[in-house]
Amino acid sequence: MTERELLIKGLEQICPEVYSQTVDNFLKFSDMLLEKNKVMNLTAITEPMEVISRHFLDCAMIAPDIISEEKVIDIGTGAGFPGLPLAILCQDTEFVLIDALRKRIDFLNEVISQLGLKNVIAIHARAEELKERQSFSAAVSRAVADLSVLSELTLPLVKVGGKFIAMKAQDCQDEVIKATKAIEILGGAKPIIKTYTVVESDIVRAKVEINKIKDTPSKYPRRFAKISAAPLGGK
Ligand code: SAM
Repeated sequence: MTERELLIKGLEQICPEVYSQTVDNFLKFSDMLLEKNKVMNLTAITEPMEVISRHFLDCAMIAPDIISEEKVIDIGTGAGFPGLPLAILCQDTEFVLIDALRKRIDFLNEVISQLGLKNVIAIHARAEELKERQSFSAAVSRAVADLSVLSELTLPLVKVGGKFIAMKAQDCQDEVIKATKAIEILGGAKPIIKTYTVVESDIVRAKVEINKIKDTPSKYPRRFAKISAAPLGGK
């Protein structure tokens, strides 16, 4: 099977209405990612077929959860995950991708320009320094930090009535239980864990959905000295 065939087989199961216009953009993004990765640390995944399954199709699995959202922020997007695949698929949604590393944001701006995407911007920033409190209808994040730290970075940016989807390893139950009190203080409802198998693969992951039900107290987020990345398992 070629990368194009794998992508088409996967995407037609996840978002049958829109996938056909997006395939060329995904393949161009993959080429740019693998090329730039030779000179810059963007991803540990260097096999083109794995870029399709572990990056593109994994991220596409949450497209149905956010396709009707108005404005979405991706915290710690790195080389654009999950935000860029979502922006390719959900063209009526506005996306803001942020990362603390300028070089990754410079790369993403090159990709956004080459793909001609009009619904996404990439910004060099630390999440805890953003001034846009409670302005996003949804937030997403993958492999950035432990859920309690991540919720403190993310929930202040989400409107009451909005939601945060954290993409996590399959075995995230303990991490979620430990974060539940912090999430409540930050204005979030009880987290809901949904495990899923990435289409056309045996990769099992979890999405943790947190609905924002109350304002976040203004003292959050605090400034974090160092954030250690949260592994996804098998990535
Ligand atoms: N989300 C991407 C993915 O799934 O491939 C990248 C994950 S990478 C392990 C974690 C990223 O989070 C890094 O690019 C790092 O620069 C970024 N990051 C860590 N702390 C951050 C913060 N406080 N604000 C913004 N970005 C942050």
